[in-house]
Amino acid sequence: MPDPVSPSLVSRRLMLAAAAAAPILGVRAADAAAPFLNTNAPPFYRFKHGTFEITVVSDGPLVLPTLDVVLENAPKADLERILTANRMPTDRWIGPQNVLVVNTGRHLVLIDTGMGDRSKVLGPDNGHLMRNLALAGIDPAAIDVVAITHAHIDHCWGLVDARDRLNFPNARVAIAMSDYEFWTQESLLANPAARDFVLYTRTNLLPVRDRIIPVRDGAEVVPGITAMATAGHTVGHHSYVIESGGRRLVNVGDVLHHHVLLLRHPEWHNIFDSDKAQGAATRRRVLETMSADGTECVLYHFPFPGVGRFVRAGQGFAWIPTPMHEG
Ligand SMILES: [Zn+2]
Repeated sequence: MPDPVSPSLVSRRLMLAAAAAAPILGVRAADAAAPFLNTNAPPFYRFKHGTFEITVVSDGPLVLPTLDVVLENAPKADLERILTANRMPTDRWIGPQNVLVVNTGRHLVLIDTGMGDRSKVLGPDNGHLMRNLALAGIDPAAIDVVAITHAHIDHCWGLVDARDRLNFPNARVAIAMSDYEFWTQESLLANPAARDFVLYTRTNLLPVRDRIIPVRDGAEVVPGITAMATAGHTVGHHSYVIESGGRRLVNVGDVLHHHVLLLRHPEWHNIFDSDKAQGAATRRRVLETMSADGTECVLYHFPFPGVGRFVRAGQGFAWIPTPMHEG
């Protein structure tokens, strides 16, 4: 006959057994500190577009110290009022960089390249495209075409690495020749304000001169992707219309770079527009056209992943992001 066992002895034995098993089961005290992960924003986002697969890959954010340098003719009081009402900082502009990879099933097309390895002149935490492409499972050597919206530093400086090697060795480069020729002018090297920008733009663009696909309005880059002239931000700025299975997505590049201010006031000037009046006119035309039929757009500097639609709101427009799970 077994020895009688008291209830208190049973519970003590169970507690001892649980304590002994805890390390094996991975149980630990509830108040143990979890390590901080210190990871950045999501590096990529993938969705279907008709039969195409599109991946938005982040290059990391740009940070400019004040909005005064971004919006030239905006009354400061109006600017601060709108930013404050929308719970946004008034002392700096933070601009994501949403690079696009379009897999058409036949071609792999990269749209813009981020800041590259050369400079942190526009903030400390960018130039991450190559790392994030790897995280997204995209092989740079498999890119067939790099389509450039315009030749500003945050869009074309990722064509080469820090040792001037091509980051996309098998790709042709679609770009407007007007932008290529303007931003590689040797004479601009004598201008102290432009020197560094032009120097590294030449470092990135001159090596791809013999693999350029000249872009013009209405020209097909690859089947399913067509260029659309949207000049003003630069002389050769082009958007890219991506069409598959009856769906349409337009990458409008830097026609707008702020998801609140320039929708409320498309007439405000972006100080980085080469032709500010033309830039404002193009911005209004794009907003009116895209909002009229609800065309889905992707914006390079809008909050990640920068996919959504414009709608009319009062005298201006508003931005409605596409939920990320919508596909
Ligand atoms: Zn830009």
